[in-house]
Amino acid sequence: MFQARCTSCGYIETDYDEFGGFSEPEGAVEFVTEVRAWHRSDDWPPSELLCVACQKCAVCGADPCYPHDDGQHVVCEQHEDHDFDKPARPQLRSVPS
Ligand SMILES: [Zn+2]
Ligand SMILES: [Zn+2]
Repeated sequence: MFQARCTSCGYIETDYDEFGGFSEPEGAVEFVTEVRAWHRSDDWPPSELLCVACQKCAVCGADPCYPHDDGQHVVCEQHEDHDFDKPARPQLRSVPS
């Protein structure tokens, strides 16, 4: 039997409605992502599986969050378009002096 475990805090989901788990790991992951609103990465097995409490923005740490387009990170509304491929740069703007 399989139960999903949060890759961040280690919390294990033990409540699967009628059941205590799934016979297939795919079923357990699908349940926590679709019913419990967990976040998972797109790879298999998921390198990242986050319970709701651990879904913090990968850029600023804020709540609430959404899956990023890259399928690997969770971000807040403000950082929806954050490009994780680019190294972080200081935010500079030029103003006429
Ligand atoms: Zn967690
Ligand atoms: Zn953010």
